[in-house]
Amino acid sequence: MTAINVKGLYVSYFGNEAINNISFQTNTGTILGIIGPNGAGKSTLLKSLLSLIPTDRGVIEYYGKPVKETRNKIAYVPQRSDIDWDFPITVLDTVVIGTYPKLGLFKRPKQKDREWAYHCLEKVGMSDFGKRQIGELSGGQQQRVFLARALAQETEMLFLDEPFVGIDASSEQTIITILRELRNLGKTIVIVHHDLNKAASYFDEILLINKELVSYGKAQDVLKPNNITKAYSGQLSFLKELGVNLS
Ligand code: ADP
Ligand code: MG
Repeated sequence: MTAINVKGLYVSYFGNEAINNISFQTNTGTILGIIGPNGAGKSTLLKSLLSLIPTDRGVIEYYGKPVKETRNKIAYVPQRSDIDWDFPITVLDTVVIGTYPKLGLFKRPKQKDREWAYHCLEKVGMSDFGKRQIGELSGGQQQRVFLARALAQETEMLFLDEPFVGIDASSEQTIITILRELRNLGKTIVIVHHDLNKAASYFDEILLINKELVSYGKAQDVLKPNNITKAYSGQLSFLKELGVNLS
């Protein structure tokens, strides 16, 4: 079953095109990686898929319905650099707030909502930290809390922007394990990722972009030297580091 259908998507900032004619279709039960160099438009694409920023043109559908009707089927974990970590809020409240769309605007969280949030913290190994301020945690712990917040929303789809940047190896392992479990339950996971490291093992499908679509398909088919060279052509030193043969 098609979970995400995107056709001819264009997004610009003040007349400068950031995303140019992106199309793809992803089935349910997939971990899709959006990959490309810095400035390729990955975060822009993710935000436009979430209706957080306006699109110039194009179609975005989930389960065959327009994004306006289906936006609440998606939980979003923003890039860590987009979050205000000085905001005074506890770990538990961060997760409880994630359930507000379900609670409704004027309902106060009840004991059972707190218990559910606590359960989601347990899932990511952060239940001992419920009373701590979110800003006191390490990068990996913060990322796990935001995953718990996404889990608390019980959505069909999870979109994460650079979840593995600046986190420890064990948090990374915890996060990918949980995401794989969700995928195996038929959820659709979209992950923005800026390097090629582990891309083949983390993602079922890859959307390789550099403003435009460079390649889309099964991870092993997309991760071919010619596609990578095309996407990362402005970053030749980076390619040499990876040992990609340019000749
Ligand atoms: P990526 O996530 O792949 O690094 P982004 O989607 O953040 O790339 O950015 C794509 C391009 O759009 C970049 O050139 C960036 O400078 C520009 N851009 C991103 N956000 C904004 C914004 N809010 N206003 C203006 N330009 C932006
Ligand atoms: Mg980004």
